[in-house]
Amino acid sequence: MPHDRINIVRNPTPASVAKTPQDFLCQLDGPTLIIVEGRDPGRCRALSTLLHGNEPSGLKAVHGWLRNGERPSVTMLCFILSVSSALEPPLFSHRQLPGERDINRCFRPPFEGRPGLIAEQLLGLLDEYRPECLIDIHNTSGMNPAFGVVTHEDPAHEALVALFTRRLIITDIKLGALMETSRPEFPVATIECGGNRDPVADRLAVEGLWRYLQQDQVLQLPPDGLHMDLYHHPVRLVLAPDTKIAFADEPDPEADITVPRQLERYNFGLVTRGTFLLWLGPRGHSPLRLQSASGAGELTGYFDCIGHSLYAAQTMKLFMVTDNPVIACSDCLLYAAPETGHRVLDV
Ligand SMILES: [Zn+2]
Repeated sequence: MPHDRINIVRNPTPASVAKTPQDFLCQLDGPTLIIVEGRDPGRCRALSTLLHGNEPSGLKAVHGWLRNGERPSVTMLCFILSVSSALEPPLFSHRQLPGERDINRCFRPPFEGRPGLIAEQLLGLLDEYRPECLIDIHNTSGMNPAFGVVTHEDPAHEALVALFTRRLIITDIKLGALMETSRPEFPVATIECGGNRDPVADRLAVEGLWRYLQQDQVLQLPPDGLHMDLYHHPVRLVLAPDTKIAFADEPDPEADITVPRQLERYNFGLVTRGTFLLWLGPRGHSPLRLQSASGAGELTGYFDCIGHSLYAAQTMKLFMVTDNPVIACSDCLLYAAPETGHRVLDV
């Protein structure tokens, strides 16, 4: 039975940390908070990674840091929670344990089931230690460049994301994700480092984590200016749970939707009005739903269904297009941000 308590480990020595990320996870024995005292122990910051067991870039970066033993500038709270999902064979392939809820949808009441209990404990530990900010490091399941996601648009959130990347999505969709606990006095940013099998994503996590660990200030924009690409208020294209999905280069007659393999190439590329996206089966567009901050809605305005095909209805950036059928059906197939909400920040 996987653990439902967060273990606390303080100041592990480099020699005590196992050589590989996999052995390190076995050492952790369940959801863990690692606390490393900083040069200034009077301040602290928080970091979370591996909320999803198939997203290892942040975990690898944390493991490398702990093996190296570099002291952070302020005390660091490092949450590594979905250890059992990550270790479920094959390694780093399960977002959550089969039959369990996605823990990054559990950071709001009711705190039910094992992931809910663990999420509630994390929130209790944040109340107890009162870190000045939190970064939650993820990977995407399809090919994506790195980007940040925040719920508040202000310089502190932008500065946190800029430690890792210059692409930023501002969302008001409420899902129960950890970043939704963000408040002006406690900024939280999600970092999507890139694809979960991409060495570029691993490197980006290492470099961003290093800045987060070493900089004295992480909530102020750099004085020499900053260029950021901002995308506002994306919508999610979600599928009914019983949708039969296929990934193929021609329509699958057995499937409700067939997603061409090249769809994920559009990640952060612009799709213009009329761009073909995917094929619809005999149920037409009925398995598809749009999810926005105001709830579930019609596809109209974002997507056009013509015959047995789905097209973009306006110019948009697509992101988090997944090639994983389980994630497509249980979470969402893709996010779309209208280009009308795109702004370039130059400060
Ligand atoms: Zn994730």
